[in-house]
Amino acid sequence: MKRLHEKMEQDGRVLSEHVLKVDSFLNHQIDPQLMKEIGEEFARLFEGAGITKIVTLESSGIAPSVMTGLVLGVPVVFARKRQSLTMTDDLLTADVYSFTKETTNRIAVAQSFLSEDDTVLIIDDFLANGQAALGLMDIVKQAGSKIAGIGIVIEKSFQDGRALLEREGVRVESLARIESLHDGKIQFKVEVHQ
Ligand code: 5GP
Repeated sequence: MKRLHEKMEQDGRVLSEHVLKVDSFLNHQIDPQLMKEIGEEFARLFEGAGITKIVTLESSGIAPSVMTGLVLGVPVVFARKRQSLTMTDDLLTADVYSFTKETTNRIAVAQSFLSEDDTVLIIDDFLANGQAALGLMDIVKQAGSKIAGIGIVIEKSFQDGRALLEREGVRVESLARIESLHDGKIQFKVEVHQ
């Protein structure tokens, strides 16, 4: 996605060989126009997949998910990382190791928001080692819902996430794929279209 690539090059900050900071448009301040285009692109990619719900993880997955939900006309459920006192329903949970925070979080979704009749698109901001996506898949499977695929805004293709998810037989669509973050520069993966 050209606009996303440009934005990453302009405003992304390479913090190390492994971490890209995109606080100015995705992870802290949010660029609504870019989110809208991201939503349209995910909706285009998963058009016809029969999606009835989007599942994401708070907080950075919410903006791209809401925009996708708006275009597809489906609700968005975000897994919570911290349990709230108002979450009194039965919960579906999974333990997720966080790449950036180096801690394990129990993530939770109220059982009432997912059912066997749902076909779910999972969306997240980054794909690194795939732990967040696997945790979300686990929750969706516990609910008995189908998984149409996973939409990722920024994939770091030099980490194991995609291979792990593909091994699970799930479709993964990333809007930007990073080959490397060497020398403080983003090197995008060259897509070979057949
Ligand atoms: P994974 O579970 O795939 O190892 O990591 C994905 C999660 O870690 C994402 O939800 C995202 O919040 C965070 N993350 C992983 N790598 C990066 C990165 O390079 N930059 C930022 N900002 N977040 C990242």
